[in-house]
Amino acid sequence: MTGHQFPTMGEDHCPFIPIFGAPALMIERGSGTEVWDVSGRRYLDFLSGIAVVSLGHCNPAVSDAIAAQAHQLMHISGFFANPTATAAAVAINALMREAAGSAGQVFMCNSGAEANEAAIKLARKFGGRGRHVVVSALGSFHGRTLAALAATGQPAKHEPFQPMPDGFRHAPFGDLDAMIAAVDPSVAAILIEPVQGEGGVLPASVEYLRGIRALCDERGMLMMVDEVQTGFARTGKWFGFEHAGVAPDVVTMAKGMGNGFPVGAMWAKCEVASVFQPGDHGSTYSGTAIAGAAVKAVIDEMKRIDAPRLAAEKGDYLASKLSTLSGVVEVRGLGLLRAADLGPARDAKAVHGELLNRGLITNAVNASSLRLAPPITTSLAQIDEAVGIIAGVLSDGVGA
Ligand code: PLP
Repeated sequence: MTGHQFPTMGEDHCPFIPIFGAPALMIERGSGTEVWDVSGRRYLDFLSGIAVVSLGHCNPAVSDAIAAQAHQLMHISGFFANPTATAAAVAINALMREAAGSAGQVFMCNSGAEANEAAIKLARKFGGRGRHVVVSALGSFHGRTLAALAATGQPAKHEPFQPMPDGFRHAPFGDLDAMIAAVDPSVAAILIEPVQGEGGVLPASVEYLRGIRALCDERGMLMMVDEVQTGFARTGKWFGFEHAGVAPDVVTMAKGMGNGFPVGAMWAKCEVASVFQPGDHGSTYSGTAIAGAAVKAVIDEMKRIDAPRLAAEKGDYLASKLSTLSGVVEVRGLGLLRAADLGPARDAKAVHGELLNRGLITNAVNASSLRLAPPITTSLAQIDEAVGIIAGVLSDGVGA
């Protein structure tokens, strides 16, 4: 009945469907890079709730804006506008105009998967009947809803849910020739992550992203970039595609844009966005006032502290410290989205478990790599503390 050990708080069985497996801890409080479990034990959160709380847990600028909005107006239907969601959409459009050089429009939603669903539907309507295929990369991750899962280039995740929806194709990540070979007249769009996050923190090369842009231009396809994990300053620029100097047609985002408030968005260039007409898409919570307050506060605060610059500088610092550790064979990633590869002889899961025992939250993103994505507000002293804990676990031979 229980499925796994879970602190049940009075229930006689686990209250959740165990999609995440057994939870490691019961966390009840957070501030900045620190969280505390129910027994009062402190942990350094070097995962940020999987790259979500980029401004730190309970950042006052964001939490105060959410709290104030909660007392003013949480939600009003899409039949009406509201000031905070409008301000958030204007701010996203301004960021994107700066980053991608085009005027655009946004669809607001609640998660990364929903943002990608919207992008896939937009691509289908853009392409028209017979030209509905979306090509993405092997190893990619685009979400768990059915179309986003079909776009996800991980066959093992498809297997229990076959048959997958029609109209998806995958090409090996980083191989431009393979991408070119995957494209035919049935393809409406290419959907790509600038850094494969769940796939192991693998940055796309500048040439690959530029090649995809050129291919899309040549064939009249949409270049759609999934910035759900990489967007909002995480990689040291506002958006990951900026590292390659390319201008996508469609960009999806979520995670860091709400600092923990569940929100996502799909941005599209005006001429592409106009494909969607009233009735084509929607969500009860699209453009809800409370999410708008969170997003506007995140953008304002990220601008105030110059979050992209901080992520770049602290990311370089973290990477240089990690690369000095014996037991780390490679450091990958950009900004504050990093992986420390421990080599094939070391079990990253075991290392991750022992790091947790010693008060550091990370994630074993694959069998040999730890993912580190601390808040952008983390201090150099906290980076030193985290790297010290990792050094101790590696030198004790854990997972070897
Ligand atoms: N796209 C990318 C690149 C992601 O990393 C994720 C989540 O990890 C998603 C989409 C799905 O986002 P969500 O879990 O908010 O649906």
